[in-house]
Amino acid sequence: MRKNYLLTPGPTPLPPYVCEAMSRPIIHHRTPQFQAILKETTDGLRYVFQTKNDVFILASSGTGAMEAAVVNLLSPGDTVIIVEAGKFGERWTEICRANNVNCDVIKVEWGHAVEPKEIERRLGANPKIKAVFTTLCETSTGAKSDIEAIGKIIKDTPAVLVVDAISGLGAVDLKTDAWFCDVVVSGSQKGLMLPPGLGFISVSSKAFGLVENAKCPRYYLDLKKAKKALDKTDTPFTPAITLIIALNEVLKMLKEDGLENVFSRHKKLGVAVRTAMKALGLELFAGSNSSDAVTAANVPAGLDGEKLVKTMRDTYGITIAGGQDEMKGKLIRIAHMGFIEEFDIILGISCLEKVLTQMGYKFELGSGVKAAEEVFLRV
Ligand SMILES: *Cc1c(COP(=O)(O)O)cnc(C)c1O
Repeated sequence: MRKNYLLTPGPTPLPPYVCEAMSRPIIHHRTPQFQAILKETTDGLRYVFQTKNDVFILASSGTGAMEAAVVNLLSPGDTVIIVEAGKFGERWTEICRANNVNCDVIKVEWGHAVEPKEIERRLGANPKIKAVFTTLCETSTGAKSDIEAIGKIIKDTPAVLVVDAISGLGAVDLKTDAWFCDVVVSGSQKGLMLPPGLGFISVSSKAFGLVENAKCPRYYLDLKKAKKALDKTDTPFTPAITLIIALNEVLKMLKEDGLENVFSRHKKLGVAVRTAMKALGLELFAGSNSSDAVTAANVPAGLDGEKLVKTMRDTYGITIAGGQDEMKGKLIRIAHMGFIEEFDIILGISCLEKVLTQMGYKFELGSGVKAAEEVFLRV
């Protein structure tokens, strides 16, 4: 017998009502029934994105929405600024370069957040910059960037602000309109508690100005087609009907809970995990930039981080994430977004303590769990 728990930054656990919604008989998409659901879902997404802009639903993982942003905004030969503070910032560069877009890359040390002034400086140095690509929560490092400050810098320039909110949306605050985010992309399998398979992209009217002139080749991800269809509450191709029906349920639940409460729940979980890590003597990789969606901590010197993650998963059924690329084996990442509650956290930390002990790490057994429980009693 084995009971499994998922504490990874995507996919995240599915609430039972999501599984129930996905088990319903399929319906056809060119019907009034589906049209009503599509309308509710699009409105629900606007609520969660905190925007009045159109939000398009794509049948893709989050990266498909990232690619949609690049190919719909840009032409080969354009120049953009990219904030690379981890693996997902690097993905923006890779997609842009695949489309022959010139990248002015701001390299930020992993675990740190970009200095908004640096964006201002580079924008000032090149008035031809078309777009600035950023990441709300850099899932590979656990760090969050100050999108509000970046938005203030970009709003009065010709450039558009593009935000990868794939792991942040529905977990940490992102005010798309109030913070002047022209394009926000997200995906289904993180804060939104769904299986992978949906990508989302919101587009401001400023950004639509670029879409009109962008020359990067595109067909499936063409937002002009998507816009024409959405204006008639329709989709250009067969949508991922089942996932959209489940998404509609998630969005209703988020609306019922209220975004403010959703964010404060994530904050509580984030504080608890960070406090527990520190109590165990583990250093937070992103320090004071740590997000409330995922926490990354350094693996103690001399311990094999990959073995730690593997033992938690294969021996005890608790899946957390390790480090990626340059941080492989050196980080543990515990996600606390979506369908996660305080006792999921207690369980994860308890398992971490057990395996750390087995691997010979010295600390006071129970100190992480105690620290987390104290946070939960207080907040
Ligand atoms: C997960 C993630 C992605 C990639 O999304 P996929 O759904 O795997 O394509 C991109 N950016 C961030 C910040 C992520 O957390």
